[in-house]
Amino acid sequence: MKALLVCEYRERALLPASYELVAFADRLGAETAMVLIGDPSAAPRVTGKLYLAGAARYGEYNPDLHKRIVLEAAQRERADYIVFLHSSYGWDLAPRVAAALRIGQISEIVGIADGGFEVGICNAKLRRSVVPRTGRAVLTLQAGAFTPAGEAAGTPQIEQIDLAGEASPLEFVGYEPAEEKGVDLTKADVIVSAGRGVGKKENVPVIAALAKALGGELGASRPVVDAGWVEHSHQVGTTGQSVSPKLYVACGISGAIQHLAGMKKSDFVIAINKDKDAPIGEVADVLVVADVLQFVPVLTAKLV
Ligand SMILES: Cc1cc2nc3c(=O)[nH]c(=O)nc-3n(C[C@H](O)[C@H](O)[C@H](O)COP(=O)(O)OP(=O)(O)OC[C@H]3O[C@@H](n4cnc5c(N)ncnc54)[C@H](O)[C@@H]3O)c2cc1C
Repeated sequence: MKALLVCEYRERALLPASYELVAFADRLGAETAMVLIGDPSAAPRVTGKLYLAGAARYGEYNPDLHKRIVLEAAQRERADYIVFLHSSYGWDLAPRVAAALRIGQISEIVGIADGGFEVGICNAKLRRSVVPRTGRAVLTLQAGAFTPAGEAAGTPQIEQIDLAGEASPLEFVGYEPAEEKGVDLTKADVIVSAGRGVGKKENVPVIAALAKALGGELGASRPVVDAGWVEHSHQVGTTGQSVSPKLYVACGISGAIQHLAGMKKSDFVIAINKDKDAPIGEVADVLVVADVLQFVPVLTAKLV
């Protein structure tokens, strides 16, 4: 079984998450090759084959040209699986590759089990195993689902890809940073986050008061943001901020993979949840099994 891993390159550097692709392929037991559209200096530290195409020529992103490069590498490699990160790059490019090859795509893979690829269903509360019936498939991996592989001691064996007739009506212009507003959670030492378990918007100040008592910032899970209880800059997770505080307190948060991906680099995690089997317990150093609205005010009162 062969897997072609599509590295990500952004602002002239390899995205470290590219090593999550390597970890996935190791778990799969696949023979691997990688493809990078970037500068040679950004080549990942792996020992296998690396198909390389220059970003100066093909742009940091160009859906037409990058698709053709990935297809060329997949053809040379006779890859069974073409694997992307489930990022904005993968969202856009992976389906183009799958459609060009007329093969299926399995998106947002969070694990490997029962001879198939695990994906979340019911808002990531459950997992199901998907087996590609076509044999070959395009895959995208949920951010943070596979702990990145370490860098190899050796260097890759590089094979250049040069497209003939590479004209494209599209041109990569550059990145524009999003307008900065709201809170920057990435610099916080303490984050106390509110999840759907807080029940309603009027209860959010209970969690904010604990954050204040600990000298920290208020974080939130996505449903809390989607419901308009807290503004988006407070959201932690794959579609929010990735944080690494010394202390993370999760209040009424179940521990879905998309949330964990944003906070699992925290040094110490305390979770308060009325369900003793909530998945957040798997990453928490301390799980307090309690009603958050009863426990948090008592804790806050002891701190102020
Ligand atoms: C593409 C995509 C991107 C996503 N991005 C993000 C993201 O960036 N961040 C994110 O957080 N999610 C994200 N999600 C959503 C994610 O899958 C989960 O749905 C979400 O994290 C669940 O939020 P929650 O834990 O607050 O709510 P729930 O899963 O509903 O959990 C609520 C928890 O509160 C507990 N509880 C209930 N009442 C109480 C109480 N009174 N006291 C104590 N505990 C109580 C329950 O036992 C439960 O464990 C994303 C989903 C998708 C599909």
